[in-house]
Amino acid sequence: MKLEQDKYQLIHARDLTREATYGVELHKKIVESCSRHEDDWDGCKRCPLHKTASQKVYWRGTVPCDILFVGEAPGRDEDSLGYPFVGKAGKKIFDLLLLDSFDRLFDPFSYAVTNAVSCLPLDYTDHDPTSGKLPPLRQPTLAEGEKCRPRFLEMLDIADPRAIVLMGKVAKKLVKPALDHWGVPILEIYHPAYCLRQGGDSALSYKTMLVDLVEFVTNLEL
Ligand code: SF4
Repeated sequence: MKLEQDKYQLIHARDLTREATYGVELHKKIVESCSRHEDDWDGCKRCPLHKTASQKVYWRGTVPCDILFVGEAPGRDEDSLGYPFVGKAGKKIFDLLLLDSFDRLFDPFSYAVTNAVSCLPLDYTDHDPTSGKLPPLRQPTLAEGEKCRPRFLEMLDIADPRAIVLMGKVAKKLVKPALDHWGVPILEIYHPAYCLRQGGDSALSYKTMLVDLVEFVTNLEL
């Protein structure tokens, strides 16, 4: 991996500091919307995933944004840190993809990233609590995605993106039905963890994803 530590500084957790862009009043409203969104959803028990998560994982990046990236669900690192795509698999490839695409574009885009569901999905089916092992991760179900959809749509409203990038088949399955009337261009790419399993940034899947993203953003003329 060619990502250097100092480059990570570019990938901030959250950027709500753009008073200069939005004006003080609008910026205040954005901050309030984000706080209200999280306060409203912190206690959510709409689906069984609230039992497996240690906290809700909402978003990171900048809002409003040019592009909203959407994954499927938080993993263990995200569940522990509270931000999406900060775990080893997701962060390495996702941040690298952003930086590589920024390098190739005349004007880098602003972005935020969230997931189809906010809580860590674990599979307790064959789990023996006396084994000392953690239950394995699983994919969120369609029903869980539907329960979390109002939260996702609120996030979408706050992020107000000019385009959406769905990462992986599960994100597509859970979120796409809600985007039919949203009216912004959508790109589907691989999930970063899949690219990592295929060999990281040297894998064909990564190169394809990068080319697709750069072409998509170029055509958007942000
Ligand atoms: S995944 Fe979404 S709907 Fe389910 S408990 Fe978490 S916040 Fe609520």
